Amino acid sequence: MAHSPDIWRQLKLCTELPSPAGIALRIIELCQDPEATLNEVAGVVGRDPAISAKLMRMANSPLYARRRKSENIRQAIALFGLNGTLVLALGFSVVDTSRTGSGCIDHNHFWRRALACAICAQMLGSRIEPALKEELFLAALLQDIGMLAIEKVQPALYQPCQASPCQHEQIIAVERSHLDCDHAAVGAWLLKNWNLPAHIVKAVACSHDAQHDDRFAQIVATAGALGDIWWHDDPGTHFRRAMELCKLRLNLNEDTVADIIEATGQQLQEAAAAFEVDTTGQIPEELLLEKARELFSLMAVNTLRETTALREKTEALTQHNQQLKEQSRRDNLTGLYNRAYLDQMLAAEFQLAKENDFPLSVIFIDLDHFKQINDRYGHDIGDRALIHCAQIIQEHTRHSDIVARYGGEEFVAILPGTDAKGAAVVCNRMLEALRQTPLNTDTHGAFTITASIGIAALDDIEDVHGAYDLLRKADRALYSAKHNGRDQIRVYCA
Ligand code: GH3
Ligand code: MG
Ligand code: MG
Repeated sequence: MAHSPDIWRQLKLCTELPSPAGIALRIIELCQDPEATLNEVAGVVGRDPAISAKLMRMANSPLYARRRKSENIRQAIALFGLNGTLVLALGFSVVDTSRTGSGCIDHNHFWRRALACAICAQMLGSRIEPALKEELFLAALLQDIGMLAIEKVQPALYQPCQASPCQHEQIIAVERSHLDCDHAAVGAWLLKNWNLPAHIVKAVACSHDAQHDDRFAQIVATAGALGDIWWHDDPGTHFRRAMELCKLRLNLNEDTVADIIEATGQQLQEAAAAFEVDTTGQIPEELLLEKARELFSLMAVNTLRETTALREKTEALTQHNQQLKEQSRRDNLTGLYNRAYLDQMLAAEFQLAKENDFPLSVIFIDLDHFKQINDRYGHDIGDRALIHCAQIIQEHTRHSDIVARYGGEEFVAILPGTDAKGAAVVCNRMLEALRQTPLNTDTHGAFTITASIGIAALDDIEDVHGAYDLLRKADRALYSAKHNGRDQIRVYCA
């Protein structure tokens, strides 16, 4: 086989890479739009009879159907919610458009494994990150899509893995030795080209690295390992690794993992039918449950054996160090990140956005006339007001955003993957929530606090000289919001 470090050039020239069909592209656009409504989504989805039919089937399957049947696409969409619909429709479309390949990958196996990973991710999500379970489903479903892209440009590459399609580690090793990268990197590149949200792209990029400290990415990586157990009758290292990830990285106990395996097994058949994927060869969940429990008790015995006084001490120290590390990133009063950590993350996110051409917004928030609040109600209530505002600010940002107290009554948030328009929507919602949510005090009744916000976004400023300059520009915009009468947002323009 030819040694080919030139994989990226081949990928860029290839016109047959897996891609979502027309409707799905419009759906991805809607995904980015915080203002998208159920009606708009119903309109777009309704134009594709195949996707609509699958959504209806999913809605009326035991996975979702509650007491009432969904009779039309609008009811089905209301059942899934906006995000759920977008994710399912996108998933259907990608699976549909890449069912066959020219190389050595068994596409039916590929998708049934992907589906098992996706359902595991959703199950893990509903326990750990309920608000993100649909996005976890999509990220896990697509986490290995890079393999299908690599297969298009290097059809013979996977020949050595053909005999045992489940050996994911072997596949990665082959890729790394021939291509100088693996399918996680290629998959992330592909999804970025489809304009999927940055945290999904990042999770795919890190899907082989369960050590990563991003929670979303960790869940996807764990689901990747768990998904394999349905098609893999070797309970050895492979199964053990999946159980270890659940236990060590996600801190799940034996019963929770057993629940997840059981629920995934039950849902897999239904989901496979909706996605039209054949699940022959699926190992019954009773067998897997038994193996999982066996492994967990083995792991417990091993841990007991290894537990010496020294080891305990080291663990306690490590934990203490981790706590200290986390504490050193946080602001004592509000629990948000502090300025030092913000500076560090701003530099990192700025570089990532520049390198990958991702959108990135920085918002600078300053509470209005805060000195008067201290003067009128006292410093203690001033402190409570700061905590109150910090909570509202945090609640209006995403899990992947970085929100910090910059100092005094000033806050800064980094919104990776969000452009100026999106940031303005977020900030206006924040200001509205501040106006609508008074702080209740026993001694001084209820009062509201307003804020002014400056926004600077990479996408609409031409001359940004580094991360700190972006922050400075947000501060300049904030100044003009203050100058204009406060309680409003301003987007930086040169
Ligand atoms: P503007 O609308 O122009 O921002 O007016 P302002 O009064 O908010 O601005 P200024 O910067 O003059 O005052 C900020 C005030 O925030 C002064 C300071 O006492 C108060 N402050 C800063 N940190 C804390 C804190 O940790 N707790 C309390 N209670 N107050 C704080
Ligand atoms: Mg201030
Ligand atoms: Mg102020």
